[in-house]
Amino acid sequence: MRGAILYGPRDIRFEERDAPKIAEPTDAIVRNSATCVCGSDLWPYRGINPVAQPTPMGHEYCGIVEEVGSAVTSIKPGQFVIGSFFASDNTCPNCQAGYQSGCQHAEFVGTAQAPLLRVPLADGTLVATPVVPSQGQIPSLLALSDVMGTGWFAADAANVRPGKTVAVVGDGAVGLLGVLSAKVMGAERIIAMSRHESRQKLAREFGATDIVTERGDEGVASIKELTDGIGADSVLECVGTQESMMQAIRSTRKGGYVSYVGVPHGVALKGEELFYTHAHLHGGPAPVRRFLPRLIELVLNGKINPGKVFDLTLPLEQVAEGYRAMDERRAIKTLLRP
Ligand SMILES: [Zn+2]
Repeated sequence: MRGAILYGPRDIRFEERDAPKIAEPTDAIVRNSATCVCGSDLWPYRGINPVAQPTPMGHEYCGIVEEVGSAVTSIKPGQFVIGSFFASDNTCPNCQAGYQSGCQHAEFVGTAQAPLLRVPLADGTLVATPVVPSQGQIPSLLALSDVMGTGWFAADAANVRPGKTVAVVGDGAVGLLGVLSAKVMGAERIIAMSRHESRQKLAREFGATDIVTERGDEGVASIKELTDGIGADSVLECVGTQESMMQAIRSTRKGGYVSYVGVPHGVALKGEELFYTHAHLHGGPAPVRRFLPRLIELVLNGKINPGKVFDLTLPLEQVAEGYRAMDERRAIKTLLRP
C-alpha cells in the first residue's frame, strides 16, 4: 500500500510502505474511510520538531474493521469504528479516572495517513457506531478522533458551565471546535480570538458571540473590556506558545479556569504571577476516548457538525498539497480520502 512519509522539513511523500499486519492478539486492522492532517503534524513538517528518519504520519482515523487479533472480543470485522490517537486499554487506573491518553499501556497511533492502519488494544481504543454511517457523516465522525475530542476536552477541562463566559485563544481547528463545545455545554457568552475572516465566520457559526482580533496584552485588554474588567470564567488555550498561554491566563477571572491543549513549545510560567491569579490550570493530550460515545451520539443525531472544519478535501495521494495548504494557512484542515 502507499502512505504518507515525512522525510524532512516540508518534504512529505506518498510512498509504498508495508501494509500493517496483526502484531499482537489485541490488535485490529482498520481500513480508513478518511484521515486528515493535524495542526500538530505541522511541527515536524516545519522542522520545529526534527525528524531523524523517514517517518510515517497521521493519527486521526475512522473506518471499517478488516481483521482483529485472537484476543479481541468486542470489536468485530465489518464494524465502523473511531479511535483516539492514543491507544488505551480502557481498564487501568488512569483510564478508569478518565485519562485514557495517560493509559499505563498507552501507545501512539501514528501511521494513519494510509489506507490501512494497525490499532493496538482494539477493545479499549475503538468505539463502534451502531450502524455504518453515511458518506456525509464521515467528516464529522473523523473529527472526533482528535480535533473535536480535543476541543471538547478543552471546554471540559476549563469547567465550561451553562450561563458562563468563555474565551478561546487560537482559531485553528481545535480552537473553533472548542467554541462549538462551549456552545453545546451551554456557555452564554463565547469570545473567539481570531484575526482571520473565514475563521471568524466559522467561529460565529459554531456559537461565538464576540470576536477579539487583538493578540497578547492587547487581546487581554479586550477580553477585560468585554467582561467589566473581570476576565472570562473559562479560557481555552488551543495554540501552545508562550504568548498564547499568557494571553489565556491573563484573560481569566480570579479563580477561573484555564485549559491548555496546544502542545507547548517553549512555554515557561512564572510561579509568582501564577500564584496571584488564583487560576485553575488543567490540560494535556486530550483523553478523547472518554468523550467518544457521547460525541458519536451528538454527530449521529445531527446535533453537531464538527466536520465543517475540513475546508479542503483531497485524495490521499495528494497528501503533500494537504500539508502545504495548512502550512500556508490556505486551509483550516485537510481531509484525505484513501
Ligand atoms: Zn489504561
